[in-house]
Amino acid sequence: MTVFDRFQPPGTEPPYVAECEWCRGEIRAGDEVKRIDDAGGYVHNGFGYDCATRYAEERIYDASGVIDEHRNVN
Ligand SMILES: [Zn+2]
Repeated sequence: MTVFDRFQPPGTEPPYVAECEWCRGEIRAGDEVKRIDDAGGYVHNGFGYDCATRYAEERIYDASGVIDEHRNVN
C-alpha cells in the first residue's frame, strides 16, 4: 500500500506486478522500485519506503561498528 492509495477511488488501483523482496508488500505499476542484481526481484524505493536501503544493508553487510587492529568490527 502506498501513501497515495487513500486518494484513489476503489477499483482503480494500478495492476499488481511484483512482491517486494523486503516487506513482502505489493508492488504496483507506477511504483518507484529498485531491481535486485543477483536475485532478480524488486524492492520499494519510493517516498515513505526504506525497503531498498534495508534490503541492501541486510544482504551486503554482516557487521557494523568500529574496526580494531585485528579487523574485528564491534
Ligand atoms: Zn517494500
